[in-house]
Amino acid sequence: NERIAIMDIPFINLTRKEFLENHLYPRLMDNEKTFVVTANPEIVMRTREDEEYKKIVQSADFVVPDGAGIVLASKYIKQPIKERVAGFDIMLDLLEFAEKKGLSCYFLGAKEEVNKKAVEEAVKKFPNVKIAGRHHGYFDAGDTRIAEQVAKTNPDLVFVALGFPRQEKWIKENMHRFEKGLFMGVGGSFDVLSG
Ligand code: UDP
Repeated sequence: NERIAIMDIPFINLTRKEFLENHLYPRLMDNEKTFVVTANPEIVMRTREDEEYKKIVQSADFVVPDGAGIVLASKYIKQPIKERVAGFDIMLDLLEFAEKKGLSCYFLGAKEEVNKKAVEEAVKKFPNVKIAGRHHGYFDAGDTRIAEQVAKTNPDLVFVALGFPRQEKWIKENMHRFEKGLFMGVGGSFDVLSG
């Protein structure tokens, strides 16, 4: 089975390689809009107390088991998930793929200096990757102008680092403005990338 439900959240049961090669890369090449949630135990716990957030996570095209606690829980219910898939690793794989295929990436979120540095580090690691644009994550939640600006750049990949649940809510509310794109909440990944 490709999906295993833990507390009503349908996690993919794939290795990182299978997930990328069988799902994300083909969808990117087909310009198919994709919403990926990388769910750690904190995110799963939040879905238990926030019904709206739960529906959003359940509506994602893929929910990735991003934490040893998720894999442990799957073993406990005797439906073991193959492996933990870290959001940060997926982000780097996607950047590498984007560089190879000439796809463009937008970096939304984190503090201004962290956002700027994260983009610089991404370009250092993947010199030919196209940067569609970038914007820090400290704007009013109801402000749709940022979303419109991001959509105008027509990115293939949109990394959203607003922390959960805000990043998933932002993706759900704004995906409709885009013609294409892979959208993924990346939590503190820009902080990690920027060092
Ligand atoms: N963040 C943001 N806007 C906000 C709140 C958080 O851009 O309104 C950024 C924050 O600077 C950090 C990232 O979201 O880069 C992840 O934040 P946090 O570590 O709190 O969230 P988690 O990793 O638990 O999702």
